[in-house]
Amino acid sequence: MSERTAKRIVISGGVADPALRNRVRSRADRLGLLGWVRLMEDGSLCVHAEGPPAAIDELLVFLRSSSAVQAATERTVGPEGHEQFAVRGVPAGVFVVQEHQATAHHFDVRLEVDGVMRSWAVPKGPSLDPAVKRFAVEVEDHSLEHNDFEGRAGRGGVIIWDRGQYEQGGRVPWPAALERGHAVFVLHGEKLRGGFALQRTRGGEKPQWLMVKRRDEHARPGSDIAAERPQSVRSGRTLADLLEEG
Ligand code: MN
Repeated sequence: MSERTAKRIVISGGVADPALRNRVRSRADRLGLLGWVRLMEDGSLCVHAEGPPAAIDELLVFLRSSSAVQAATERTVGPEGHEQFAVRGVPAGVFVVQEHQATAHHFDVRLEVDGVMRSWAVPKGPSLDPAVKRFAVEVEDHSLEHNDFEGRAGRGGVIIWDRGQYEQGGRVPWPAALERGHAVFVLHGEKLRGGFALQRTRGGEKPQWLMVKRRDEHARPGSDIAAERPQSVRSGRTLADLLEEG
């Protein structure tokens, strides 16, 4: 196995152009480097590059010679074990959480992956408490059109409990991460924000997973967001309102 080291590089100046992020990724790919590039909230660009030291040095030379870059500072960090070089901070698609009264009450968590909504039925709904592991059963993919559905369904009904964009995270590219049974993602919803993980605990016909909030600034230990904010983000109605209205 070749020597793998890692550096964190912070670039300031002229990084607003998204083309620079893509150029960093294609150069890293050609150099055989793994990691990520992310546009930070303070307007700087942060690069995590891991691989052979000579290749990291070449990436630094490339960055410092770019006309868009004013300054690039570097520090050595520990390798994180990435299997891709990803552009972070960019939505991969949409997500929706639909609260669904069917035979049993549950929340359907759906993430857009390759043109379909990969779906999990979560009986107790998502949580922002990192200590809480929510049981989730993988169910059939849904179409993107279904994301907008809110209304009566048979004797039950559906409300749009949360929705927004999401980012694919983790060390492994998607959809391979889902196939391997460990997927990390960042939600930008109205109620659900920050990092989450889905961990498969059992395969087979109806794969079982656990959905867990990651520890970050959006985590709210001790909270129960499903109970605290039951309203539809589209209509303001609760599922109980919808079922009573008939
Ligand atoms: Mn359902």
